[in-house]
Amino acid sequence: MKFVAAAILSALVVWASPAPGLGQSAGIKVIVNGVDVPLTAPAVMANGQVMAPISGLFEPMGAIAAFYEVDRSIVVTNRLRATVRMRVGETAFQVNTQSRVLPAAPQLLNGQVFVPAQVIFSALGAWTKFEEAERTLFVSSQITGVAAQVRDGILQVKVSTTGPVQTETRVLSNPDRLVVDFLHAALRTQARELSVQDAGVQRIRTAQFQIKPYISRMVFDLLAPVEIRVTSDSATYLVTLEIAPKLAASGSPPPAPDTPAGSGALKVMGVTFEPNGPAGRVVIDATGGMEYKIREFVFPDRLAIDIARAVFIPVKQELAFEHPSVLTVRAAQFTARPPVTRIVVTLKRKMNFVISQSGGRLLIDINAQMVGRGHLVAIDPGHGGRDPGAIGPGGLRESDIVLDIALQVRDLLRQDGIRVMMIRETDATVELLDRPRLAREAGATIYASIHANANGRATVNGSETYYLTPQSLALAQMIQDELGVVLGLPSRGIKTASFLVLRDTGIPSVLVETAFISNAVEEARLSDIGFRQRLSRAIHRGITRFLAIYPAPAAP
Ligand SMILES: [Zn+2]
Repeated sequence: MKFVAAAILSALVVWASPAPGLGQSAGIKVIVNGVDVPLTAPAVMANGQVMAPISGLFEPMGAIAAFYEVDRSIVVTNRLRATVRMRVGETAFQVNTQSRVLPAAPQLLNGQVFVPAQVIFSALGAWTKFEEAERTLFVSSQITGVAAQVRDGILQVKVSTTGPVQTETRVLSNPDRLVVDFLHAALRTQARELSVQDAGVQRIRTAQFQIKPYISRMVFDLLAPVEIRVTSDSATYLVTLEIAPKLAASGSPPPAPDTPAGSGALKVMGVTFEPNGPAGRVVIDATGGMEYKIREFVFPDRLAIDIARAVFIPVKQELAFEHPSVLTVRAAQFTARPPVTRIVVTLKRKMNFVISQSGGRLLIDINAQMVGRGHLVAIDPGHGGRDPGAIGPGGLRESDIVLDIALQVRDLLRQDGIRVMMIRETDATVELLDRPRLAREAGATIYASIHANANGRATVNGSETYYLTPQSLALAQMIQDELGVVLGLPSRGIKTASFLVLRDTGIPSVLVETAFISNAVEEARLSDIGFRQRLSRAIHRGITRFLAIYPAPAAP
């Protein structure tokens, strides 16, 4: 006994602090689209490959990895429906339907799955490079195509990428040009020049502007002042730029009072936010047309707008909201010399935005429709009516508890602008067979059944999530990941089970067992409103993470 314990201990020690010089060591970083990915265990080297734990690894590339315990397989998928499948201990792997060979087999170490990260990122369409000297694996989205066309006097440029990109847009004068940078994006296409001679644009030049970190740059040489709209659709990784000649006077811009021409500094009078359901509009008013750049940041998701040669008259402004998408809008004088006004919009998550300028007014429309657009989430509180479900030692009924949790999940999703249908909203009897049918008939695109667990042994506790079909795996994993961080609730992981409600739904379907109502301690916690709130938030986060990665199926 003692010997075994010692052996395990030394294995742990070796793992935690590998001998220097072995090459498998602390300090291996994975930087994805500019994000230093927080690894859940130190990455190691095997066969010259960076082996990294899968948890959260692929999310900055817009992909998710799930571990399928039954056959020890790992599935990595992204929104473009690229799927990489592999198995612990095996080098054969599959990219969509193609069979390939990994340079090192995935490994299960201390309960965590490690995969050869570089190969998998490449399979997802990313540009990758391991920098030996920096002990860093660099991974970037790639720009795979640029298409431009003029329609109704508007130049529309569509930029296809293999993963998330952040854009920085700048309007410059003398000579008039527009610069759009794609940060952390590698250009897979050739640098090129495209003559337009329309919509106020003379030509477009595209090039790899910088490497380390990658910046792909698109310069629009202008024939006349233009307005630009930038739409980034994170469901398809398509960035659309729409450029049109600036109209003389449109809308009702504030009067541009006597800004002495040539004296330079523009005055930014203030910033306001106009909420509109889950969407909203940031309005920046100035004494004249603004030269600006807008840049996206992640962790936390935010937009930064810098206005050149502009004095921010209120000196500092800070707006905070109870808003489903926008947390704060802050504005201040960023630098005095030269005067730059900076406005930072902090978002709950990456959002679509459209920027337009009209006279002395800059508008940033924040669109909440992006995450979960097209999805209809079916939430099914288990049991109800004639069937109270499990009853705790203190008399708490499962059907009541899960209804409360489910209603909270519904409200949280709706606040995000996500459509939800409820299988029941009251203490009603719904037959088991009817539940998936109701979801199907309503056109639900994902289904989550919510329960409280029960076991003959009173000490059994914790949360677990069940799924049956492969397409349900990522959803189960994401919800369980989130339940796993609920304080004091042990995670029992994801499991497969052929529950009736998980069969034949044809959509990602899970059954969430929140906590054990049969355990007196967990029963007491389930009766606590604060605990139920934490459970609801965890389920909500898991679902929205899934929706952010998986586009809704196209409408029939
Ligand atoms: Zn139940």
